[in-house]
Amino acid sequence: MKTGEWDYEVFWKEAIKQIQEETSEQEFLMWFRNMQYLASNDSQIVVAVPSTFYKDQVGQRYQRLIEGKVFELSGHKIAIAFKIQQKQPDKPSPRSPAAEREREKPAPQRKGKKSHPQLNTEYNFERFVRGENNDFAYMASFAIARNPGKAYNPCMIYGGVGLGKTHLLQAIGNSAYQEFDDTKIVYVTAETFTNEFILAIKENTSHRFKNKYRSVDMLLIDDVHFLPGKVETQEELFHTFNALYDANKQMVFTSDRPVSELKKLSDRLRSRFERGLNVDLQPPNFETRIAILTKKLEEKKVVFPEEVVELICQNIKTNVRDLEKALTKLIAYAELVNKTITLEIAERQLKDFFTDHDQKNVTIDVVQRIVAEYFGLSLNDMKGKKRSKAIAFPRQLAMYITRELTEYSTTEVGLEFGGRDHTTVMHACQRIEDRIKTDPTLTPAIQHLTRGIKEYRGPS
Ligand code: ADP
Ligand code: MG
Repeated sequence: MKTGEWDYEVFWKEAIKQIQEETSEQEFLMWFRNMQYLASNDSQIVVAVPSTFYKDQVGQRYQRLIEGKVFELSGHKIAIAFKIQQKQPDKPSPRSPAAEREREKPAPQRKGKKSHPQLNTEYNFERFVRGENNDFAYMASFAIARNPGKAYNPCMIYGGVGLGKTHLLQAIGNSAYQEFDDTKIVYVTAETFTNEFILAIKENTSHRFKNKYRSVDMLLIDDVHFLPGKVETQEELFHTFNALYDANKQMVFTSDRPVSELKKLSDRLRSRFERGLNVDLQPPNFETRIAILTKKLEEKKVVFPEEVVELICQNIKTNVRDLEKALTKLIAYAELVNKTITLEIAERQLKDFFTDHDQKNVTIDVVQRIVAEYFGLSLNDMKGKKRSKAIAFPRQLAMYITRELTEYSTTEVGLEFGGRDHTTVMHACQRIEDRIKTDPTLTPAIQHLTRGIKEYRGPS
């Protein structure tokens, strides 16, 4: 999505709503009732006003205020341009009769702060720090929360581990939950969805399962990269999707990679995921990392010297979860030994953390290559179906090492090892752990392999 395609109407509406809350009723009715949003692009929002007098007055009194609000909400400097135009009666739009009826419903009531049982209220828009890396995903999520089922449906938010997918997905749910009464919001991870579905089949309650998911107003499914290979669950989700889509119900999904890269996904589900809007989250740059860490420190009411904040942000580049981990570690240390954190302490305390961190660059492919080579096997053996002992053990070892050196989940590791199930990976890791205890040659072998993997510089 290019910036130029963005529509600022939701930000306009929200700005006006906030102003309404902050001004007297009389003042609001006098000046704002007669403004009408017309159009927007990347540099301006055009608003209709009824006369020259009006235009001059609101220009002087409110233009700055509105622009300031829009900037706070969208993060973009957008000018408000007033255009004189007689107020138009609402034009009929080319929507379906059902959608029309939806539109004619009275506006949903605002409710007081409540928390949704499946959502963590800490994952909200206010706490989400924005940067170039996540701006579109943020804007899309914000627009969806304000205009569910209308703005961007479905929406797929994708990006690597710890970049804020769950945070944004839950922020949509939290915000819509505050905003609209009687809106049924369901948040679920793809894994839970799968387990619930399997259980429903086993217990003969699949009608209840279907009812539950096909009657929601907003369905938020986290981590759909868990679905590949789960044929029946995909089938069920496909039908759920269609039912909700036809009823204009909002759906948002997250995935750790673009839909095109999800393997073992049925074509029809893939095409559904690709519909609507797909937005990505990239790792934050240095400035954004500083902004995130600073905000987290404020939230925790902790002060670190500037150079400590910089040290952390220079060394932890890949994701926000790791920034948080480093922060938690230092705070715990400071509390335990009752010391203020200096640069020296931070360097010492986070040393392992920083070096561990380099290991993130390890890919599954490299682990497979190195371990295969060590045992005189081919890469195909690693990923293949053969279960002879000569192959099974190295494969288990490679799975174990992958889990040790990378952040990939058992599901992901299984997929890369010939589409095996995550339980196979868990089993493999357990086998190796058991064997380490009884076989004294194994640890040095693992250390040797680990070194080779970290030093790997490409196929010779
Ligand atoms: P993902 O689901 O992509 O793996 P999460 O949403 O769980 O990542 O984010 C990991 C942690 O980092 C969470 O505690 C989240 O609140 C925090 N986080 C991620 N992105 C941001 C951000 N832009 N601003 C503030 N906190 C963030
Ligand atoms: Mg997540």
